[in-house]
Amino acid sequence: MAGYLSENDFMMVEEGFSTGDLLEELTLGASQATTDKVAAFFVADLGAVVRKHLCFLKCLPRVRPFYAVKCNSSLGVLKVLAELGLGFSCANKAEMELVQRIGVPASKIIYANPCKQIAHIQYAARHGVRLLGFDNELELAKVAKSHPAAGMVLCIATDDAHSMSRLSFKFGASLKSCRHLLENAKKSHVEVVGVSFHVGSGCPDPQAYAQSIADARLVFEIGAELGHRMHILDLGGGFPGVEGTKVSFEETASVINSALDLYFPEGCGVDILAKLGRYYVTSAFTLAVSITAKKEVLLDQPSREEENSSAPKTIVYHLDEGVHGLFNSVLFDNMCPNPILQKKPSTEQPLYSSSLWGPAVDGCDCIAEGLWLPPLHVGDWLVFENMGAYTVGMGSHLGGTQTCRVTYAMSRLAWEALRGHLLPAEQDEDTEGVCKPLSCGWEITDTLCVGPVFTPASIM
Ligand code: PLP
Repeated sequence: MAGYLSENDFMMVEEGFSTGDLLEELTLGASQATTDKVAAFFVADLGAVVRKHLCFLKCLPRVRPFYAVKCNSSLGVLKVLAELGLGFSCANKAEMELVQRIGVPASKIIYANPCKQIAHIQYAARHGVRLLGFDNELELAKVAKSHPAAGMVLCIATDDAHSMSRLSFKFGASLKSCRHLLENAKKSHVEVVGVSFHVGSGCPDPQAYAQSIADARLVFEIGAELGHRMHILDLGGGFPGVEGTKVSFEETASVINSALDLYFPEGCGVDILAKLGRYYVTSAFTLAVSITAKKEVLLDQPSREEENSSAPKTIVYHLDEGVHGLFNSVLFDNMCPNPILQKKPSTEQPLYSSSLWGPAVDGCDCIAEGLWLPPLHVGDWLVFENMGAYTVGMGSHLGGTQTCRVTYAMSRLAWEALRGHLLPAEQDEDTEGVCKPLSCGWEITDTLCVGPVFTPASIM
């Protein structure tokens, strides 16, 4: 092991128990706390991250994964990914500092943001971060002046029309402009070492990758013609973070592999990278949020005579997190959060029309409406799964800070796998078989666990 992650960084979940049990213990502890009461916290299953990595290696064996730090910059995630040997894609100085602080060498960092502050370019130059992204002339001029030894990766635009979060409006050079940019780089003595693209976050269209790989081939040819020695192809991110999406990761990977074989065949001397965010972390994080306030609201404004009658009502629940924080994906990804109730309701309990609202004093902070829930109380906990991407640290808009407490957990099996005792090759051929046991089985149980289920360790 490289030593980025130690047993002190997470809670060891022993066989037969799950992160669900851990979450239940923590919510009980939080409810009983007399001081420092928390109203929201994450449980992160680092084994789920290990499992994703093994699936990645199996499905995209020619691709070297980098992690997009802005997606979730929590320390446990960075440490486990560093331990797995990933590189890191950073969007700014704070993210570069963060990964360098845990010991990641500069050679494993890409400063990928195509539009950078000069001070951040200077930081990269001082700290040995050599690979930088660009998509316009002005950026070339800044780099020529502040970081002449940089190796630049030209970010090209893609057709991201189908993606959940589109990026090509903001980033990426058009194919038409690439020759001019590459000529300009040559004139400015800036070395262009590769091409990158991003098909948009949450991309359901594998053909978008295939088309972008074909486009990248053209740019490589123009680059070679102009004397650039290009040897890096960066496939960006966009891969799904959860299972059960319309197009699976495996299907997308298979389209990518065919396109790579066609345009960048094995032995062509090009190093293939990807910068993934969502894929690695979404399913690993579960958020628990407690209800801070509650009120009944009449659905329609009643007339005076109706006021005491049985006019239809909805229950409005207030939480301490909202769409300006951890639930920002409601605004940006059209996500519809669906809570799991920590206390299982009995089947006889009536269900009421309900909505969930965040703490901001504005009418936009609506997390979910149109839910049918049993009557809940202040202090009850709601649990949201698949909350790992673009949640933690989003208060700062980009990674580098952590806003909500995270308790990390890992099954002993995942820990052993990470330590190299269970190499992927020794396991079952089937992907599910390889990966499943590494996560701590997730299920909220009715019974509270007793006894030494978790090896005590610090909570970060
Ligand atoms: N690379 C770049 C340049 C990005 O802008 C992003 C996300 O916006 C990512 C990688 C990660 O994308 P995803 O979370 O879709 O994998």
